[in-house]
Amino acid sequence: MEKTDYRYCPKCNAEYEPHIAFCSDCNVTLVNEKPIDVPLDQIEWVEAGQFSGKVYGEMAGEILANNDIPYFLKSDFFSAAFNISPVNMPGAVVKLFVPENDKEHAEQLIMDITD
Ligand SMILES: [Zn+2]
Repeated sequence: MEKTDYRYCPKCNAEYEPHIAFCSDCNVTLVNEKPIDVPLDQIEWVEAGQFSGKVYGEMAGEILANNDIPYFLKSDFFSAAFNISPVNMPGAVVKLFVPENDKEHAEQLIMDITD
């Protein structure tokens, strides 16, 4: 059986038939390698949003996970310095980081819960 070489949009991760060259949503050239397969150390992490409290950050993370977008959360220096979980600190800022390729998509998904 012949393997179908799907192509992928490096911006929104959409999957396309091999004969399609451009992502109509993002207007970028498709690539043969799925962006999510890029080794972790090649990923450029960028900030996609800030939240007042860990709960909202985790809420956003859950949305991203449901959309196959990798992410990590980083709390502000204060809670980190004192080793206090941000969940107990109202007003603590939690930052959400995603791969640069997924930033736009991530921002759209979490738009409703960012500050
Ligand atoms: Zn796209």
